[in-house]
Amino acid sequence: MHIDTIATPDTIATPDLAWQEEALCAQTGADFFFPEPGSSVRDAKRICALCPIRSVCLEYALSHDERFGVWGGLSEKERLALRRG
Ligand code: SF4
Repeated sequence: MHIDTIATPDTIATPDLAWQEEALCAQTGADFFFPEPGSSVRDAKRICALCPIRSVCLEYALSHDERFGVWGGLSEKERLALRRG
């Protein structure tokens, strides 16, 4: 699961990430989703294909310009291509 938390000395602000509670990747660990460069992302994509929040996850990754790993079933290169349209 991918979580962003912004902490300051006086406050801790956590974006609304309740949707991530349904993330299948939270049950499998991050290794599939952040593989070594050049490694296959096939297993991560298989898990994403079954994930109930896939579209929300992809939307989050695109809107937050997540550069690394598999999000919403798309690799880094696939998200970059999608952004470039
Ligand atoms: S779509 Fe994939 S990366 Fe996103 S929450 Fe689901 S399993 Fe994790």
